[in-house]
Amino acid sequence: MADSKMRILNWINGEEKPAEVDSWLGKYNPHNGELLCRIVNSTEVDTQDAITAATEAFPDWSGLTPVRRGQILTDIVAAMKERAGELAECIAVETGKPPQDAKGEVNGAILQAEYFAGEGMRLYGRSLTSGMPGKYCHTVRQPCGVAGLIVPANTPIANIAWKTFPALICGNTVVLKAAEDSPRIALLFARLVKDAGLPDGVFNVIQGRGQASGAALVADERVNVISFTGSTSVGRQIAEVGGKRLARVSLELGGKNPFIVCDDADLDQAVHWASLSAFSNAGQRCAAGSRIIVFKSVFDAFCDKLVAKAQSLKLGVEAGCDLGPVINKRQQQLILAAIDAAVQQGGEILCGGSAPTASEFAQGNYILPTLINGLAESAELSCKEIFGPVATLHVVGDIDEALRLANATEYGLTAAIHTRSVDRGMWFAQHIKTGLVNINIGTYGSEPHMPFGGFGASGNGTREPGVEALDVYSELKNIAFLVREDQL
Ligand code: NAD
Repeated sequence: MADSKMRILNWINGEEKPAEVDSWLGKYNPHNGELLCRIVNSTEVDTQDAITAATEAFPDWSGLTPVRRGQILTDIVAAMKERAGELAECIAVETGKPPQDAKGEVNGAILQAEYFAGEGMRLYGRSLTSGMPGKYCHTVRQPCGVAGLIVPANTPIANIAWKTFPALICGNTVVLKAAEDSPRIALLFARLVKDAGLPDGVFNVIQGRGQASGAALVADERVNVISFTGSTSVGRQIAEVGGKRLARVSLELGGKNPFIVCDDADLDQAVHWASLSAFSNAGQRCAAGSRIIVFKSVFDAFCDKLVAKAQSLKLGVEAGCDLGPVINKRQQQLILAAIDAAVQQGGEILCGGSAPTASEFAQGNYILPTLINGLAESAELSCKEIFGPVATLHVVGDIDEALRLANATEYGLTAAIHTRSVDRGMWFAQHIKTGLVNINIGTYGSEPHMPFGGFGASGNGTREPGVEALDVYSELKNIAFLVREDQL
């Protein structure tokens, strides 16, 4: 390595470790295209080293009481609070999100951590009745073993916290596969947890490509639970490999989330939430509201307002900007190609549709907030996730048609409806096939104590975080004992 750029290594057994081969991947600044750092291009041998460290650390970590584990996690929470500025700065640079969004994400990760640290004093089982006289039963939660956690780069510290804290409180040790596009935050977090007192080997990080180092995590028999957040196509591969060896697999996958605007909606509120749903984090959210379904009688009025709003959004990475670039050049090119294809298929671009022309954005991976009208409901862009600041608009006659269209993709992650009618909102909520539905808000995810996950191709039925995450990261054991009255 002749250049002086920072090199990001793996984190195994409490220290940085180079990969077995001298091979490196470049990580570029999404805002200006500059090389930020180089990351080790790990092989399966490196992943196996990390799994060995996690396997060896498991007996001691799982042997602590949940209360003690919770105390150590509480110390990590304190360190996260103390170093929140540093964490936010790191993800702002790595992902290109504006500073206030990066801070918000760190605060979300801290809340997540706090919730699961507190679980150390709960981790409840149940007491059960029995049909046998004198028999008493209760359930306890026990750790699974080594947890392999695979995350994307869109909200990197939130993704790490989302999986790591429930895994650790349940007594598992962790190998985290960091996303290629957010390597440094994973290393910063690893150092932070060590400084806060987490024993070596309990939390390990593997960097590099998913197909090599990530796949090795899924295939290894010593990894008892795999939790993956990412695309539906990779999720399918992971389900196949993990399923074959009967590992527990939790999949949090993509979405093409419908946002319904009824004829009785408060249009200004609907525009506010539709814009946030479609364009915040540059549309790189599994829960992005990328299909906007509007009643015919308010379609023109709503469109005019939403287009004006989209055109008023400020691009850039400074404080106060609404959206930054997308994560890498390849993703930018894929999104632009998808927009071109949509136009070929009859889509009308209402705003955006290209990269911005201003010179300040020329080297970055920017895309203007884009709204496309007139596509068939079966067109690729109408029903496939694109993971960028692009939404399609669809006109419907009534709530039945809106529901049918909302349910017409393979996904089922989130949905939102804007209406003043409680009856209509609740009817829609009951019938939409999504894991989360919001009335008069945006297509947003949940809070740390609430379950999140999707129907259909958005997942495989598990829910994280909330108390439901404990089902992903623990084995439930039913213990029974018999009181013999003749022994009293
Ligand atoms: P991706 O599937 O390409 O990659 C995600 C992670 O998986 C990366 O760390 C990558 O290195 C790794 N990976 C890739 N191939 C692998 C393999 N064969 N085995 C093991 N690991 C592998 O996804 P992405 O493009 O980085 O992220 C965007 C996707 O994530 C979108 O589809 C989005 O909807 C989804 N997402 C879902 C949620 C949710 O909670 N449902 C949240 C955020 C993002």
